[in-house]
Amino acid sequence: MRLVFLGPPGVGKGTQAERIRAELDIPHLSAGDMLREAVRRGTEGGRKARAIMERGELVPDALIGEMIAEKLRALEGTKGFLLDGYPRNTAQVEALDAVLASLNARLDKALLLVAPEEEILRRLTLRRSCPSCGAVYHLAHRPPRGVGVCDACGARLVQRSDDTEEVVRSRLAVYRRQTAPIVEIYRRRGILAEVDGIGSADEVAARIRRALQDAAA
Ligand code: AMP
Repeated sequence: MRLVFLGPPGVGKGTQAERIRAELDIPHLSAGDMLREAVRRGTEGGRKARAIMERGELVPDALIGEMIAEKLRALEGTKGFLLDGYPRNTAQVEALDAVLASLNARLDKALLLVAPEEEILRRLTLRRSCPSCGAVYHLAHRPPRGVGVCDACGARLVQRSDDTEEVVRSRLAVYRRQTAPIVEIYRRRGILAEVDGIGSADEVAARIRRALQDAAA
């Protein structure tokens, strides 16, 4: 299965992508995680991306495009992947098409996860994550057992610097303006599956499973 995962920031793509990765045994390629890792390591790309990410805007297409292309080339001949957070505009759709064509591959499905903006705002401003192992919590719906501490590895949880209300509003505006239009491209290609992102993680996972079974049928 070669999948792209679309949807506004905070709709639950990361959480669901991890489940799909485990169930289908395909790698989860998260554009945001790759960029955050580059920022942490202080690479040239990371230095360029840092301030842009803190404002909630999109980093240059070439910067993220190269990172994604490199990962996809390394996966040539394997049984698939789940791309999360890429593509995010029409130029990135074209860049992805070109990389896949050069690998003689094509996408099987574009999964679109949807939820109202007010719900997203609530989710993101209450989101906390573990800087050490990447686990994600929600202070209302999925709080850690110990206050402010990761259940999995004991590290102190942090709020992503782009999860403040002001930056979340700007990320949602970027999504509306630049990313939402690409949904139509995949719809026209007949590979779009739209899934309701409201409900528990288990409920949403069950809907995604059904959408992928329909795709495989
Ligand atoms: P995410 O973790 O997917 O919410 O991404 C966090 C931030 O990384 C975004 O707000 C952007 O600044 C940047 N980013 C992630 N994916 C992309 C992409 N495909 N194109 C440009 N910027 C991106």
